[in-house]
Amino acid sequence: APRLILILGDQLSPDIAALRAADPGRDVVVMAEVRDEGTYVPHHAKKIALILAAMRHFAAELVDHGWRVAYTRLDDPENRHAISKELMRRAEEYGAEEVIATAPGEWRLRSLLDHTPLKIRQLADDRFVSSEEEFAAWAEGRKSLRMEYFYREMRRKTGLLMDGDQPEGGKWNYDHDNRKPAEADLFMPQPLHHQTDDITREVLELVEREFPETFGQLRPFWFATTREGAEAAAEWFMSEALPRFGDYQDAMLEGERFLYHSLLSFYLNVGLLDPIALCRAAEDEYRAGNAPLNAVEGYIRQIIGWREFIRGIYFLEGPDYPQRNGLEATRKLPDFYWTGDTDMACVRAAVTQTIEEAYAHHIQRLMVTGNFALIAGLSPQEVGEWYLAVYADAFEWVESPNVVGMILFADGGMVASKPYAASGAYINRMSDHCKGCHYSVSKKSGEGACPFNPLYWDFLNRHRERFQGNPRMAQMYRTWDRMAEDKRKASEESAAAILAKLDAGERI
Ligand code: FAD
Repeated sequence: APRLILILGDQLSPDIAALRAADPGRDVVVMAEVRDEGTYVPHHAKKIALILAAMRHFAAELVDHGWRVAYTRLDDPENRHAISKELMRRAEEYGAEEVIATAPGEWRLRSLLDHTPLKIRQLADDRFVSSEEEFAAWAEGRKSLRMEYFYREMRRKTGLLMDGDQPEGGKWNYDHDNRKPAEADLFMPQPLHHQTDDITREVLELVEREFPETFGQLRPFWFATTREGAEAAAEWFMSEALPRFGDYQDAMLEGERFLYHSLLSFYLNVGLLDPIALCRAAEDEYRAGNAPLNAVEGYIRQIIGWREFIRGIYFLEGPDYPQRNGLEATRKLPDFYWTGDTDMACVRAAVTQTIEEAYAHHIQRLMVTGNFALIAGLSPQEVGEWYLAVYADAFEWVESPNVVGMILFADGGMVASKPYAASGAYINRMSDHCKGCHYSVSKKSGEGACPFNPLYWDFLNRHRERFQGNPRMAQMYRTWDRMAEDKRKASEESAAAILAKLDAGERI
């Protein structure tokens, strides 16, 4: 009897484990566009379209290579709209008893497969440098897990940017070269806009019809939806943006949505691009003298360092990880996260581009919407649902540790060694948003003060017991303690007023 080979929407890699274990002469590949996966959070319309269009192209590629593919379209009347139910239906149809899957990147789906009444084998997803077992072995016995040390192991393991057993250039990490604010008059690279073909056009119409209420603008739609398209996007990055990727990695500019970022996370996460191949291509640019070491090292660190570390934490920590709330933050997510309707220029810019592009770069996610969520004490689960819904690259294994760990410190410091809390001064240093903002970044309290300022101090004070012993934060507490009494009082009153407005659903 044939076996069913399950391919999920983020498993679109021709050499994925389940396909390697399959026999094209005997087995049937099962792919299904199901409503359950499209609606458990209000995913961005562009994200849904990207995944469905990439799935359809991938299925066509498999058929071209001689595979039998049982593909269920979203509007197929037979569609049972849940992965497990579709597997059961196909098992009956083909007389199959066994399913080979690649372990999903989400606890929810792993458990769902475990509870489907079929014999399902979940093979390890080996599209990563570090397996879950290797990460657990590395973590074993360490008092704290720091990305930097894990990253060095990954450099040694892959040989990327190594000079014998030493790091290229003599240092592992060139991050201190990578904190330049950008200037508005720089000639910015503009992302490659991919043409839509018939398959993608049909999907766009389907998304408009089937998800009329979902978050975000569907058009203009310029993502690649094929492997060739994603490879062209990668080549664009290597030649146009990589050389300056390092310098301006932490910068933000009003009206410049992409700067020198790669815009490749969504292709990587659905399987259209291979992370190691990208790192090797970046290394080639350095070896050929086309891109400096700080840029290439910085890029490679994001992929084999951060991306792998984040995934390691998610699977090490177990299914309850997304539910953690170490700082007991319970405030509801303000509406402006969905609408962009706020007077804070930095937040408005980040949310508006999120609505239009299903994309914001790292510093916007971390230091604007993330930082605000932290210092305003927003619920990690509400914030998590937002990040999972709104970005085209969002899948729980990568979204959750970034939200629960990196921005909200809700995992007690697994991902971040201290909270990334910052006042308006940081945003002003790294961006030009403050110039045109309704609020004044230099004002610390009272009418018109940048909300990040009083909320920053309020956050520190709310969690004083927990953080004042942290040597990297002690200085901030001393600054507060030395501040004049009336200034401290004014700051506290401003914070209380802003939080009251948030709670009342009023505009800030
Ligand atoms: P670049 O700036 O060009 O970076 C290069 C690559 O490095 C990215 O493509 C990505 O694959 C990897 N990378 C960099 N930082 C991280 C990180 N912290 N974690 C994992 N990978 C990283 N990334 C996702 O892929 N999916 C998410 O759902 C996601 N949610 C995030 C939520 C928050 C709160 C934060 C702070 C970060 C999140 N990130 C997420 C990480 C990062 O912001 C995005 O990977 C990046 O912005 C994608 O754009 P890019 O491809 O242009 O990245």
